[in-house]
Amino acid sequence: MNIDLKTRKKQLLDRLRSQGITDEKVLEVMADIPREDFIADYLRPQAYENAALPIESEQTISQPYIVAYMTQELKVEKNHKVLEIGTGSGYQSIVLAKLCKRLFTIERHMPLHKGAEEMFKKFRLFNITTLFGNGIKGWKEQAPFDRIMVTAAGEDIPDDLLYQLKDGGIMIIPVGGQDETQHIVRVTRHGDEFDVKTLLPVKFVPLLSGIVHSS
Ligand code: SAH
Repeated sequence: MNIDLKTRKKQLLDRLRSQGITDEKVLEVMADIPREDFIADYLRPQAYENAALPIESEQTISQPYIVAYMTQELKVEKNHKVLEIGTGSGYQSIVLAKLCKRLFTIERHMPLHKGAEEMFKKFRLFNITTLFGNGIKGWKEQAPFDRIMVTAAGEDIPDDLLYQLKDGGIMIIPVGGQDETQHIVRVTRHGDEFDVKTLLPVKFVPLLSGIVHSS
């Protein structure tokens, strides 16, 4: 990494700390992952700006603060089985995979699904299982999960995902339409009851049904 990116990465991590990211494990894994490798070459100078950036298939890699915040709120532990909906670039997947036991991640765009698989190989992450499919339905064969993270905004919280959470499990999901204010929501399962807490206002790409074979 050139000296400039190294300095910017350090500044970004300091900024995340000052913005209330206190979980050192989350900061440590983010310090470890080269975000510049998950974006196009022309965007490299912007890799450590606290901003979402475009990736293939008209999607985005989330803003570093949002990655840190959602991961911190998910309270991932080393023995957890985690489901992620919206693999995208694979950046958030690697953050999660470094904190949990096994990560299952679903993407509906084939080029992104393939690209992320390459990244998981490159970074030698062997505890990630990928699926090309519609994550709104979750992953029945692998359920239940200790934690679920959705990285695209749904108009509602999908029922299938709620019921694939373990008792006591937590899901973090942005909720809201594209023309309204979306919020990150934290759902905690207590038996058949779901405790829903609204957290930060955010702007995410939509959670959509169906699959897309090409870019
Ligand atoms: N976590 C990603 C963010 C990608 S943006 C990253 O770090 O890069 C959100 C992603 O969710 C997009 O790639 C989009 O294609 C995907 N997505 C949207 N709806 C989906 C669905 N129903 N199932 C699986 N993936 C979905």
